[in-house]
Amino acid sequence: MAVQHTQIDQNQVADVDPKDTLGRPIRDLRISVLDRCNFRCPYCMPETKFHANYQFLKRQECLSYREIQRIASAAVGLGVTKLRLTGGEPLLDKKIPDLIARLSKLSGVDDFALTTNGILLADQAEALRSAGLHRITLSLDTLKADRFQALTRFDELDAVLIGLDHATRIWPQSVKVDSVIIRGVNEDEVVSLLEHGRGLGAEVRFIEYMDVGGATRWSLDDVVPHTEIIQLIEEHYGAISPVNEQTSAPADRYRLADGTTFGIISSTTAPFCRECDRSRLTADGLWYLCLYAQSGIDLRAPLRAGASADDLDALIRSAWNGRADRGAETRLATGDRQPLISVEALQKQPHLEMHTRGG
Ligand code: SAM
Ligand code: SF4
Ligand code: SF4
Repeated sequence: MAVQHTQIDQNQVADVDPKDTLGRPIRDLRISVLDRCNFRCPYCMPETKFHANYQFLKRQECLSYREIQRIASAAVGLGVTKLRLTGGEPLLDKKIPDLIARLSKLSGVDDFALTTNGILLADQAEALRSAGLHRITLSLDTLKADRFQALTRFDELDAVLIGLDHATRIWPQSVKVDSVIIRGVNEDEVVSLLEHGRGLGAEVRFIEYMDVGGATRWSLDDVVPHTEIIQLIEEHYGAISPVNEQTSAPADRYRLADGTTFGIISSTTAPFCRECDRSRLTADGLWYLCLYAQSGIDLRAPLRAGASADDLDALIRSAWNGRADRGAETRLATGDRQPLISVEALQKQPHLEMHTRGG
């Protein structure tokens, strides 16, 4: 009888979604499909020499779609309901609709999104939607052509705007536009970015500049805090009101008097780690429990060594149970805050790059 009781208890524990050491469930998995990019945004990939200074993952090291599907399936079985494909630039992977088709069949996913810089979006949006993608987040920091070129190092603003326009027709009212706001660079465009999104029915989210890997020129002086972003918006539109909602989403949402909503992701000055249910998988199968984590858990090795679905489930469950990460809160408590990781360290450990672990 005693043995039977033990078995029942273990089964009951295994049926419950895992919680980490702070009681946070696992809900959101961001999958980086490749680490390469066709832009060079200075806050993410600041090195000017296009190829020479980046250590990219080797293709043969990267997970196959079948392997990604197995990991995503295990994560969904443990409580993940949101999937996001990211990179690098995920649309550089021309076969990505095949991956989307596989992942869209996982039952239990109620939000399946992709983050893109938008340059290849116009051509691919229809195929992405047909494959089962629910929505798009497009990163766009400026509407000025010369500034766009300075920010991405490519003269492609028009292509990105066409991609955005296309996306808002294909996914009406569900496209998001993410804008990183940097002092002296684009804080004067907060209102025009909001207006552009409003005209297209896309919700704009302003992101505080973060000291993540890759932001090797980051400085606290360059961060425009959420309070200042709100002030800029209220100066133009008048009073705004918070949208009251219970969510673990990173953005605090607000409403203009005419009902237009927008978000602010204040990861740098008011982090939200306490609610964080996100983790990130790199293209070569390292699983990071925090954007700021120094190391990840290798899921590719056990997969290639023949791990069963139960083995994978147990591995993910036990890692999540041990999670204590509060990276952005820890950074906030750091005095004399400097860039997190040096160029030299990034060259030795490319997994610390933002474009490798995904945004
Ligand atoms: N290439 C795609 C894109 O740009 O949308 C997806 C990958 S990119 C790493 C994902 C997001 O991370 C982008 O919205 C980008 O603006 C954001 N990001 C990169 N570095 C950042 C930083 N230092 N601070 C804040 N956001 C950053
Ligand atoms: Fe810019 Fe995204 Fe490419 Fe980073 S990965 S350089 S944020 S487009
Ligand atoms: Fe989550 Fe880490 Fe970001 Fe905090 S810093 S919100 S724990 S990913």
